[in-house]
Amino acid sequence: MSNLKFFEPLKASRAFSLLKNDFGKGLGHAYMVVSPDDDAVDEFFTLVACAVYCDSHEPCMDCAECRKILNGNNGDVFHLNEKREKIKVEDLQNFLSTVNVKPIGERKMYFIHRADLMNAQSQNKLLKTFEEPPADVTIVLGVSNEAGMLETVRSRARTLYLDAFDEQTVYAMLLSLGIDAATCSVAAACGEGQLGKALKIANSPDYAELYRSAIKLLRFLNRSSDIAALDSAVFMQKDVGAFLDVLSIILRDMLAAKGDGDLVVQKHIIEDIDALASNYSRHALADILLAVNSARRKLSLNVNPTATVDSLLFTILEDRHKWQ
Ligand SMILES: [Zn+2]
Repeated sequence: MSNLKFFEPLKASRAFSLLKNDFGKGLGHAYMVVSPDDDAVDEFFTLVACAVYCDSHEPCMDCAECRKILNGNNGDVFHLNEKREKIKVEDLQNFLSTVNVKPIGERKMYFIHRADLMNAQSQNKLLKTFEEPPADVTIVLGVSNEAGMLETVRSRARTLYLDAFDEQTVYAMLLSLGIDAATCSVAAACGEGQLGKALKIANSPDYAELYRSAIKLLRFLNRSSDIAALDSAVFMQKDVGAFLDVLSIILRDMLAAKGDGDLVVQKHIIEDIDALASNYSRHALADILLAVNSARRKLSLNVNPTATVDSLLFTILEDRHKWQ
C-alpha cells in the first residue's frame, strides 16, 4: 500500500512517464516540475525518489528502498523548502554544500520545493551547480509559477508539466480516500484539475455549507418575496464566488439528471439532485446555468456582488417560470 494520497493519478501522469523513460538512457541532472498544485508536486517528488531507488523503478512503494523514502530515511535524498517559504541564498548554499560528496548508493537526489520562491541571487547560485553538475546528482525543482524562474535556469532543466487531471480521475482519487461520493463530486468539479485543491475542498466544512446553501436556494426560490431572504443567505457565505461555483456544478448535475448523457458528474448523482431537477425544465436549467456563469464572470471582473447576486436570483426565478 502506498502512503501517497495521489499515488494512482501521479503514477499515470504524462510527467511521470516522461521521467521514467529517462531511466533507460540515464537520468538527467536537472528537472523542473511545473504545476500550480503544490501538494501534488510534493507527492510527485516522493514518487520520483521511490522510482529512482526502487529495485523495479516502477515504483512498488513496498520494498525496503521505497519504504526508506517514505520514512525519510534515505541518506541520498535531500529536500529544501518543504514549507514553501522564500528561499534564502544561505539556505540554498547550505543545501548544495554536499553535492560533491559521493553518494551512499549510486545517485543523490536534491529536491527544491517551490523553487520559484528563490530570488535571482539564489537562482544564480543554483546555476553554478547546473553548469558543472556532478555525474551522480539529479536536482529536481518544483515550480508553481514558471515566470518566476530565470531563463538561464529554465534552459538547463528538463521541464515536466504536471497537467491538470480530469474530473473523473480527481473524483476517483477522492473516493479512494474514503470521502463520501457527494463531497467527492463537488470537490472534483471545483478542484480545477488539481489534486491538492480538490482534496482541500473535500475536507473543508465551508464547501459542505456552500453546497447545502446552493441546494436550499434552488429549492426555496419560488416567488419574488423569497429573494430578499435568500439573497442575505448567499451573502452569509464567506466566498460568494465559491458559492456560485458550487451552484453551477449543481445546475450541471440537474441538467445531467434530465438526461444529457455526456456530462461526467451525472455518474455521481446525489439524491437531492433528482428531486430538485423535477421542479425545473431542461430549458430553464440551461438558461439559469448561463446566468450563473455570467454572474461568476462579473464577480471576477469586480462588478458589485450585491447587484450581481440580486439580478441573478431574479433571473433564476424568471427562467424557472418562463420555461415550465
Ligand atoms: Zn520499491
